[in-house]
Formats: sequence, structure tokens, C-alpha cells
Amino acid sequence: MQTFKDTDWLNDALWYVRQKRDNTSKNIPEWEDLRRHASNIKAHTITHLDTYLEEFEKKALKNGIQVHWAADAAEHNKIIEKILRAKKAKKIVKSKSMLTEECELNPYLEQRGYEVIDTDLGERIVQLAKQRPSHIVLPAIHLKKEEVAKIFHDPNADPTHLTAQARISLREHFKSADVAITGVNFAVASEGAFVVCTNEGNADLGTSLAHTHIAVMGIEKVIPDMEDLGVFLRLLARSATGQEITTYTSIFKKPAQNKDIHLIIVDNGRSEILAKEEFAGALKCIRCGACMNTCPVFRRAGGHAYNYVIPGPIGSNLGAARDIKAYGKLAFASTLCGSCTAVCPVEINLHEQLLGYRNLYKQNVKERKDIYYKAAFSLLRSPLLYTTALKLAKLLPHSLYKRAWNKRRTMPKIAKKSFREYYNESH
Ligand code: SF4
Repeated sequence: MQTFKDTDWLNDALWYVRQKRDNTSKNIPEWEDLRRHASNIKAHTITHLDTYLEEFEKKALKNGIQVHWAADAAEHNKIIEKILRAKKAKKIVKSKSMLTEECELNPYLEQRGYEVIDTDLGERIVQLAKQRPSHIVLPAIHLKKEEVAKIFHDPNADPTHLTAQARISLREHFKSADVAITGVNFAVASEGAFVVCTNEGNADLGTSLAHTHIAVMGIEKVIPDMEDLGVFLRLLARSATGQEITTYTSIFKKPAQNKDIHLIIVDNGRSEILAKEEFAGALKCIRCGACMNTCPVFRRAGGHAYNYVIPGPIGSNLGAARDIKAYGKLAFASTLCGSCTAVCPVEINLHEQLLGYRNLYKQNVKERKDIYYKAAFSLLRSPLLYTTALKLAKLLPHSLYKRAWNKRRTMPKIAKKSFREYYNESH
């Protein structure tokens, strides 16, 4: 098992995943062509979304899948509740879905008396810890095994033991659940089928045992056909975890006998992103998490350091797209080194978009420091103003400088003579 030194371990762990991605991608000589191809497929699909979504819906309905459309998070949650009520369901097993995080489905259902069990191991850990995922693909990467043992109330911090305990506990929930909820990785228009990828088989077990399967997808998940699916599956696993294929890659096409599948197709702000040419490329994202594994800021700060539900460079973009005032500042938490853009399997120009959101933030949000910067600019460009200000500063009482920034820092005393005065005296 891979071990990491105690300091900087999160950075090391994420960098380890990034290196695994590098190694497996190098096994494919045409890797860069594959990225370009995937980017082109996505660019084509998102600019013809109406056509592909309609084709997908038509075929899915023909296959016996019940299709619902949700304009926003509130509608998404209401549709799910309506299905649960109709089924008289009480317990739900849920596999990983960033869309349900985005729509805050768990608290919505829990407040209405439903029991929701996250079944992906990492998601289950953060659910028990009452936290949100810190990574798109590795939700509990920020926690050490000792912390997981504490969350499980188990004195044994051995990862194999902890995993076995989680398996025993989850197995009971799987057996007694009424409904299984999953996300969707890809929806294939030509087939009316959708694909769910997990490494733990939890989506498969949940949907096999429960009578009702509710799958949720953003409108951008649709792709034209099965040939395209091959392109994305090759890219997704390698970019996400450095595996050649995700362990369980399941295609859902029609409900089994006496069972039903509901599929909810959600917009929730995606059409608005699509309408902005500069930022529409973000909809190409296949949620592999590679941009976060490589980002020098997020590798050190972790996904909880910033306030949008989707962490990492893509989350900073999507957050700013959702609400520039609330999340636009995330665009500044970047070195703009372009490493995210360099690894993105669908060639999203992430760092350029971040720069774009910085400009948008500046145009939309006025901050007090803008006034300070303007004052400093006028001061620094005028030698007369600058030297006069320095002379005046010496006369003012030191306590006047005790402003917010200095509350927890020691403000140095202003020297009696400036460097220029000393210099002039000695020459
Ligand atoms: S933006 Fe690209 S690298 Fe980041 S999660 Fe999406 S597909 Fe992966």
C-alpha cells in the first residue's frame, strides 16, 4: 500500500494519483489525439444539445425508462420526492453523484423523514462525519485512516479492517432499501441508454436489489453514440485514478421485469453557461477530478478550503458561473499555471476561463480594497505625494495604524528617517 510522509500528505496523495494518470496515459500513444477527439465530440454535442437530448428521450421512453425534466435543483428534489411518495419508500441507497450534492438532495430528503445512505465508501465516510466531499472522485481524501476509525467508532485503524466493517454495515442497508439513486456518467442518445461508472459496484448492487432506480443527470451528460462512449471511457478512468477502465462500467437500457427506472434530466443553470461563449466549454467536463489532482493550490489547500460544492479548478469555474458575487473570488485562488488545462481529458481551457471570471468579478463586484488600490496607485506614481506622505506618516500616532490587518500582526514602527534621507545625508 502507498504510504505518505506526515507533512504535506494531501499534496503527496493527490500528486500520486496525478502520476498514475501520467503513467497509464503514456501507454496510449494516441493519447493527445484522443483528448482532441473527445473535446471535439463534446463541443459538437453541447452545441446540438436540443437534438441529442430529444433523441435520447425518445429512445429511452421506447426502452421503458420514465424520463423527467427538471429546470432547477428545487424541481429535481421535488420530482424525486414525488416518486418516493408514490412508491411509499422510506430508505434510499445512493451512489456517488455530484449533481445530488449540487441540488442538496440529502438534506432535502432527510428533512422530510427519508433515510438516505450514501454507499460509495468515501461518500459514506463524509456522510457519517457530516461533511461534504472534498474531491469529485475521492470524496474522503482529506481524512487519514485514524480519523476514519474515529468516525466509525472503531479502535482499529487498519484500512482493510475499516473497509470490511463498512461493507458489513452497508450490506444491511442495501438489503433493506426501497429505492436506489445513482448519478449518470454518460447518456447515449442513439441507444436511449445511460452509463454509470463506479469502482466499488455499489451502484450495481443498489439498483439490482431495489425495485426502483432513480438516475439523475445534467443536460450536458448526453453523447451521440456508442463509438463516442468508447472514447470517453478510455479517458475517464485513466484521467481520474490512473486505471485502464473503471471497475464497474454499467449500461442501463431498460428496467428489469417488475422494476422501474426513472431518469431525471436537470438544467439548473447549465443553459445559462451554454449561452456564454467564453465559458460554455466548462460543460464538456466529464468530472474526472484530474484538474484538482494537479492544481498546486488545491493539492495543498484541499477541496474544503473554498466554498463551492464542486471542488478544484472546474468547481471554481462552475461556481463563478452560477453566482459571480458569491463564488467569483474562487477564480483568484489560482496560480494560472495552466496545469489543469494541460491534463483535462476534454481540453477545457480552465485557466483561461478563470482569468475570464476574474475580469467578470471585477466588473460586477466593488470591493473596499479597490479604493485603497486606487489611492496607493496615485501615491506611488507621484514622488512629491509619496515623500510628503512618508513625512506625515512619521507624525501620526502609531495607534492609528491598528486596523483590521494589524489586529493579529505587529505593526513595525515607522523609522525616524527614510532610506532616502539617510542616503542623501551620506552622499
Ligand atoms: S475540468 Fe477536465 S480535468 Fe477537471 S474534472 Fe472536468 S474533465 Fe476532469
